[in-house]
Amino acid sequence: MAALPIADRPEVIAEAKLLISAHRWAFIKMLFFYAGAAVSALFGPWILGNLTNEAAHHQLTGHKVTVMVCQLAVASVIYTALTFFARRRSYVLGEQIFAELRENFISSVLNLPLIVVERAGTGDLLSRTTTDVESISRTVRFAVPEWLVALLQAVLTFGAMLLVSPLVAVAGLVSTPFLFFSTRWYLRYATPGYRRERMSYATLAGTMSETIEGARTMDALQLGQRQATRIDANVRESFFSEMYTLLMRMNWFPIVESAFSFAVACTLAWGGWLAIHHHVSIGAATTVTLYVVQLNDPLDRIIAWLDELQMGAAAFARLIGVSSVRDDRPTTSAEPSNEVITLSDVHYAYRAGHDVIVGVDLVVQPGERLAMVGPSGAGKSTLGRLIAGIDRPRTGSVSVGGVELADMPLDTLRQHVALVTQEHHIFIGSVHDNLALAKPSATDEEIRHALESVDAWEWTQSLPDGLATELGTTGHPLSPAQAQQLALARLVLIDPHTLVLDEATALLDPRAARHLERSMSAVLTGRTVIAIAHRLHTAHDADRVAVVDGGTIVELGTHDELLARDGQYASLWRSWRNEPSVES
Ligand code: ADP
Repeated sequence: MAALPIADRPEVIAEAKLLISAHRWAFIKMLFFYAGAAVSALFGPWILGNLTNEAAHHQLTGHKVTVMVCQLAVASVIYTALTFFARRRSYVLGEQIFAELRENFISSVLNLPLIVVERAGTGDLLSRTTTDVESISRTVRFAVPEWLVALLQAVLTFGAMLLVSPLVAVAGLVSTPFLFFSTRWYLRYATPGYRRERMSYATLAGTMSETIEGARTMDALQLGQRQATRIDANVRESFFSEMYTLLMRMNWFPIVESAFSFAVACTLAWGGWLAIHHHVSIGAATTVTLYVVQLNDPLDRIIAWLDELQMGAAAFARLIGVSSVRDDRPTTSAEPSNEVITLSDVHYAYRAGHDVIVGVDLVVQPGERLAMVGPSGAGKSTLGRLIAGIDRPRTGSVSVGGVELADMPLDTLRQHVALVTQEHHIFIGSVHDNLALAKPSATDEEIRHALESVDAWEWTQSLPDGLATELGTTGHPLSPAQAQQLALARLVLIDPHTLVLDEATALLDPRAARHLERSMSAVLTGRTVIAIAHRLHTAHDADRVAVVDGGTIVELGTHDELLARDGQYASLWRSWRNEPSVES
């Protein structure tokens, strides 16, 4: 499986810059408030330093104490008010940015080329839309603002230390090398750890959803044990990757804590020594020491949030990775000049170096019925996907009226060619919504016509709320045949001139099948039909038959021509005729 891409560092940084510059003013305002709050927090230690100085010089009077206490009170009121406004701003901004990120993400997910989703598997996408989005939400709403604030506070506090006494302040720096090197070590080794942790969640989600979706097959093939073993292995991988990051944190946090205490102790000792020897005032030593203590809080937060930021950055890289998937449809605005489907020298490979379609040439005229027959694995479904424009040929061309199908925008493409399979998803919403999906501009008259033509008008009218009846997982239950009819009605609304019909996933129970066949033939009337036939009577009724084998068309002609030719088709036909068939 080819996992969805993950953005690299420069891409993440560029994207983050883009986000910030889009909200430049909100950002500056927020920082302004936070800077104000940080500055007002610096008054406390400074006032206390003055107080110590006055006390040391025996000049402290009751009046002075009162004034200083009032100053302290005012500073803390200002601090509280500014912090309140700053926080409010940052949370509002965080919500806005998060909402935008999520909207962008959803639209890139919806624009993902089908083939990319198929190759990546649902687990990867699922974990990106759940765990990663959640992680981003914490990062953008809390981690980034908290971290920026802490950084601002740390810088301002350090600036104040230098302003009061650079001589004392140097002692506060003794821990810097410890902090720097241990943090660098942590970042270097923890980042891949967090990435591995995320990846393990994605794999686990993938295995889980695969197990649940394929539960019946697993049961039938008794794959339960095998699947349980795989899930165990996935859980083990998640466990060990979490243990790894936990271990990293366990090593790093104590180093950080001791470095803080060490810095305070050194400043106190050094400042005390300087004060005793009259190099600095005792007040300056007091103020700087208090600043170092005060620095612990923002530094602690800077470091604590680094963790979250790391996880957030990993999740962010996965989110924007999705938007970096290049749309494989470089949309052309060229209009097909007619409805002829032409394949010329088409090659296609799912895996590089293993062509499963080798040099197919085919022209299908408007209104023609072509049946594709051949052994399983011959390449019929793959050809079907190519003709429906889902996949792009590796070389050669698949076109309608001279326009390459894989170059058409999806909504234009679907007005020309559609693939009909037995997959018929019912979306949450009313019957009307389910049909209007195919053509939002459809009038009530068109919807009625579509339902009538697939023989579904009557039963939809007898539903509890008619066309307004809610369907989907929580709504009114439909039989598989009814669901299929709605899917066919959607096709009538889209009205493509060519249908690729995959009979592979054969029809339901015979009674429903016969009923559906009527609906189906109503849809097929007047259109070009390329049917991947599993029942030879489909081939018998077709205008032409293409026998596919080994990734190419080995015989092509009418039923009678191919019988006369006495080749592969003739022998297929004879063996089918001689067998008592259950199919027809
Ligand atoms: P048919 O419809 O005639 O049974 P397919 O078109 O499904 O044949 O398959 C043609 C070949 O391509 C087979 O060898 C099959 O194993 C291979 N194939 C089909 N789908 C995939 C896929 N998604 N990834 C890799 N190989 C595939």
